[in-house]
Amino acid sequence: MALPLFLSLVPPAEAWRRLEEHLDRGPHEVETVGLFEACGRVLAEDVTSPGDLPGFPRSTVDGFAVRARDTFGATDSLPALLAIAGEVRMGETARFALEPGKCARIATGAMLPQGADAVVMVETTEEMGSGLIAVAKPVAPGENVVGPAEDVAKGDVLLQRGRRLRPQDIGALAAAGVSRVRVAAGPKVAIMSTGDELVEVSDALLPGKVRDTNSYSLYAAVLAAGARPVAAGIVRDDYREVASAMREQLARADMLVVSGGSSIGTRDLARDAIDSLGPPGVLVHGVAVRPGKPTILAVAGGKPVFGLPGHPVSCLTIFRLFVEPAIARWMGTAPERREVEARLGANVASVAGREDYIGVKISVRDGVRWADPVFTKSALISGLVASDGVVRVPAEVEGIEKGAPVTVTLF
Ligand code: AMP
Ligand code: MG
Repeated sequence: MALPLFLSLVPPAEAWRRLEEHLDRGPHEVETVGLFEACGRVLAEDVTSPGDLPGFPRSTVDGFAVRARDTFGATDSLPALLAIAGEVRMGETARFALEPGKCARIATGAMLPQGADAVVMVETTEEMGSGLIAVAKPVAPGENVVGPAEDVAKGDVLLQRGRRLRPQDIGALAAAGVSRVRVAAGPKVAIMSTGDELVEVSDALLPGKVRDTNSYSLYAAVLAAGARPVAAGIVRDDYREVASAMREQLARADMLVVSGGSSIGTRDLARDAIDSLGPPGVLVHGVAVRPGKPTILAVAGGKPVFGLPGHPVSCLTIFRLFVEPAIARWMGTAPERREVEARLGANVASVAGREDYIGVKISVRDGVRWADPVFTKSALISGLVASDGVVRVPAEVEGIEKGAPVTVTLF
């Protein structure tokens, strides 16, 4: 039943292109949330500012609102003397207009009185008594003032569709008076583990058995990607059981992620089972990457289906390479990636024509940031646990030497 060979090993970028062609960019589902729920969510539409920000000229310091020209030429030895006309109260409009030669006490954030065009910092003034201050340094018009709409003008795009909201974005929305936003809902991603050797996490580990790791790491990865995971559990290595469980799960989800059985052995059922789900079926079987060669990318009924290798490390590596970008695309955004530059802490060998992903631990020694490879057998997830991120060894090279600059993609 299973084909004897991989269709051909496809470079990761080409594999993604083949899949991406079939995936419409989202957002496919949208919901409205309040600002307390909005952090980390992806904007489904541009947010424009309902008004000018600030709505009035505001002082950025504590001091005295002035007409800037009244301070021109002021020095320590020849200060400008100004009469205090009054005080602007916080949150109120000044009840007076500022006449030449006068100033008004003002606090940070308060509104400038009519006629004032700058603020002198309290530190550069001295109170002379009898309602006079001495200003020892001139200010330019607009100094220590945010003009109306200088932050944002009414109708400006405050934040663009596709943006993943950060705390400062939430603050900007609040300041602009936007209390609710339309955000992308994540796709429902069904997660299935296959293998006769798999047992539940809480089951005793009899000889030959393996605890189902991927259901849990994938569930967490799907959540972290902003999608809605659905745990479909463990299915035995039986073609009919696997194929019917896949069909049932895919019908209720937007994507299906299956781990195990994705290679080319007699017990590897994933390829044929996935191909039975409907056209166009399997697009890629076998990717020129390590870890993760036995990877299947498919589409059935417009929904992506992923056959990930069972090795827990390969499984997560391929998730980051293909599933995470597909989830992001479904929501109308791109995966969140943080990178740092470092020097590789040890030689890493690689085969030309294959992309390698090496787990690394970051440390700073002698003021230099090092990325030390964490070498483990790929079946052990402890190597990933010890890693801070991964380094990609491109297909064209046969390895990277110790000390070479590398880019680390952080977990
Ligand atoms: P497979 O991809 O089915 O050939 O499995 C490759 C290796 O990964 C085997 O050692 C499996 O026992 C192991 N494996 C497969 N699925 C899982 C899983 N869900 N959790 C932990 N290990 C797994
Ligand atoms: Mg298996």
